[in-house]
Amino acid sequence: MKNKNNYDIIIIGAGPAGLSCARALADTGLRIALVEKQSLATLAAPPLDGRDIALTHDSMHLMRDLGMWKHIPKNEISPIRAAKVFSGASSYFLGFDVAGTGKAELGCLVPNNEIRRAAYLSLKGFRNITIRDKAEVSKISTDDVRGTVVLASGETLTAPLVIAADSRFSAARRQMGIPVDMKDFGRAAIVCRMTHDGDHAQTAYECFFDDWTLAILPLQGKKSSIVITLPADQADAVMAMPAAAFNARIERNLGDRMGTMTLTGNRYIYPLVATYAATFAAPRFALMGDAAVGMHPVTAHGYNLGLGGAHILAQEIRQALAMGIDIGAPTVVDAYALKQRRASAFLYYGTNAMVGVYTDNRPAMLALRALGLRVANHLPPFKRYVTRQLTGKAA
Ligand SMILES: Cc1cc2nc3c(=O)[nH]c(=O)nc-3n(C[C@H](O)[C@H](O)[C@H](O)COP(=O)(O)OP(=O)(O)OC[C@H]3O[C@@H](n4cnc5c(N)ncnc54)[C@H](O)[C@@H]3O)c2cc1C
Repeated sequence: MKNKNNYDIIIIGAGPAGLSCARALADTGLRIALVEKQSLATLAAPPLDGRDIALTHDSMHLMRDLGMWKHIPKNEISPIRAAKVFSGASSYFLGFDVAGTGKAELGCLVPNNEIRRAAYLSLKGFRNITIRDKAEVSKISTDDVRGTVVLASGETLTAPLVIAADSRFSAARRQMGIPVDMKDFGRAAIVCRMTHDGDHAQTAYECFFDDWTLAILPLQGKKSSIVITLPADQADAVMAMPAAAFNARIERNLGDRMGTMTLTGNRYIYPLVATYAATFAAPRFALMGDAAVGMHPVTAHGYNLGLGGAHILAQEIRQALAMGIDIGAPTVVDAYALKQRRASAFLYYGTNAMVGVYTDNRPAMLALRALGLRVANHLPPFKRYVTRQLTGKAA
């Protein structure tokens, strides 16, 4: 008889990546334990966290296929029809739009808590998935035949494959001895929502000022998601600014683009630390989501990469099952790791390099920024590459 704590797969972390990974594997019939510190009540109704996630077309397709999309309320899905990148107060911009893509939008914005809720709801009815909530993993180890996960309660779970989706500061990754390339930008992101008089025409704006950036992401109606990145030592003052002063600062920096701006709700703060694991696989172990690649949010690829990775790993596992191969075999996890590195390495290092140029305010760099926008605007292959990242293969 099977021990109730022996599973086929253990996934650590029921964030958006861990939940999506569980859903991508749910119809294999494998017995999967999803181990999460938070409670089921929080997973069922995750609180707002200020993040509005820009989803690519590939992600939207995957979410439809996985039965997640139908759980996202229509009024929480906001299309992005165009994007404009500005350097400083200059009115010159690098523009991207849907021309030639055959698509009505570049991508869509969905609040992070709605993605988490939808992913959780999509698991309903799969009796082979067990969510072990309020359970913190305290230790993990693997050998040639199995992975062993010890919970803070002292309980031990085993499985031939363990997947860690426990955030960019993954403790499982460290315990497995996997080094990580970590870039602490010494900066923070402040996110919030604002209403405005002007019409954003479903256009996303990214403005690079001398030592801070301001992104305006279009929600439905005259409302936007605001993302400010700034040196960490200035963040507390901006978080504490009275709403009127905050409104005035944003309004001033946007010029007359949106008219009067009004903060609605809370401001949320995130440290800007990017991480890239030295390997995404080890014996009977795979890294997933931010635990594998923790992106700087400016290019909006973190969850998109995590969801794509969940799809790749699920495909490798399905193939192993079809061929009668052990699902935790090195060939399976290594194939996933190789494909996910190919999908992410250029985006990760390219994003960090771009952030480096656009947050360096030495005079030569300021000139390079302005020049960079003009050069990029006249480089159709570059613009096609960026657009294709958003709209998928059809672009
Ligand atoms: C400001 C901002 C804007 C962003 N915008 C975008 C965007 O536009 N597009 C995009 O694609 N991405 C975006 N991202 C990135 C995206 O939010 C992340 O990539 C995504 O949330 C990561 O999901 P995850 O499941 O890998 O990790 P997490 O969300 O960090 O979840 C990890 C889970 O593991 C659990 N956990 C951790 N340790 C343990 C343990 N020991 N035991 C049990 N459970 C544990 C945690 O409780 C948590 O539930 C943005 C990020 C930020 C900060």
